[in-house]
Amino acid sequence: GQTQYFRDTWVEIDMDALYQNVQAICNGLPKGTKLFAAVKANAYGHGDFQVAKEALRAGAHGLVVALLDEALSLRLRGIQAPILVLGLIRPVDAGVAARHHISVSVFQIEWLKEASRVIDSRDPPLKVHIKCDTGMGRIGLKHKNELKEVERFIHYAYSFELEGIFTHFSTADLTSEKYYQRQLELFKQYVSVLEKTPKYVHAANSAGALCHKDSLFNTVRVGIAIYGLATSQEKAPLAKGKQVFSLHTKIVHVKKVLPGESIGYGADYQAQSEEWIATLPVGYADGWLRKLESQSVIVNGQRANIVGRICMDQMMVKLPNYLPIGTKVTLIGGKESEDFVTVEEIAEKLGTINYEVTCTINFRVPRVYK
Ligand code: PLP
Repeated sequence: GQTQYFRDTWVEIDMDALYQNVQAICNGLPKGTKLFAAVKANAYGHGDFQVAKEALRAGAHGLVVALLDEALSLRLRGIQAPILVLGLIRPVDAGVAARHHISVSVFQIEWLKEASRVIDSRDPPLKVHIKCDTGMGRIGLKHKNELKEVERFIHYAYSFELEGIFTHFSTADLTSEKYYQRQLELFKQYVSVLEKTPKYVHAANSAGALCHKDSLFNTVRVGIAIYGLATSQEKAPLAKGKQVFSLHTKIVHVKKVLPGESIGYGADYQAQSEEWIATLPVGYADGWLRKLESQSVIVNGQRANIVGRICMDQMMVKLPNYLPIGTKVTLIGGKESEDFVTVEEIAEKLGTINYEVTCTINFRVPRVYK
């Protein structure tokens, strides 16, 4: 990929923070409990390869991704740790997964039958984790007889190896525990139906791993918490790590505008008095969405308001005083001793969750690893 960039807008990934977050979560788990770091969607926008390497160095045992393409891309860059694809891959691609020692999720007998036909006898067996739907209602098998049938098929087909069984909670982040308890109980029943318990038994995401000791089994799949982001909008985070993601730019233009002069598309904003207006080279095409018009940024440790509409590649801010071209501006993150924009602050402005914010800042903005 491209190694040199020619723009002054960048995402900084704090590798020490990532390392510490992963280590702290691992240290908080009972001995022997394995952590799979969730690095799907390019590690929630942080960059999957770099995050994967650092998370593994910090104590993660394996990785989970959503797509076969994501797993393959990590393998081709030399990652050798266990990788599980959480989503359903096409049965015709089962051989590709097997040859690259990529584990996949299974929950349909027809899928197994089709996949068994494309896996060559010279291929290594495809490692599979059975996905149980205990109440998320997304993917997974729902009936115990299906589970028995799937286990039996895997057992008798030389092309498969049963490596895991798992489920996913839909309410581990909520204060009310009733639905969570029901999912947990169902999952325990599924596990007990198996003739032989596989190597990995897993259910917990970040909220589960950090808030529900009874959800751990022998493995957890942790995403949002390793990035130092809040695991719940409802519950105060138990142990919130340090935010790994920050977004910065530099002033490219500064001018004094007179009272009544307008800024931006629609001439929406009008200066009330003489004002110093700076232009920043970041816009909605970077994922800094137009809804953020009422957001402020940090310049010289102080907040400055965005003025006018956010453009595709640029936006304007009102400075507290004159500042030169090249002055650094922070849009997300900052220095904790001065002022700090949390990912959650941006999420609230956008009416969404923290996960969506880091995923939305796209890869036109280079990631810099520090
Ligand atoms: N497991 C599954 C099946 C997921 O879909 C996800 C992410 O959505 C995770 C684990 C990680 O969740 P979190 O980022 O909340 O820890």
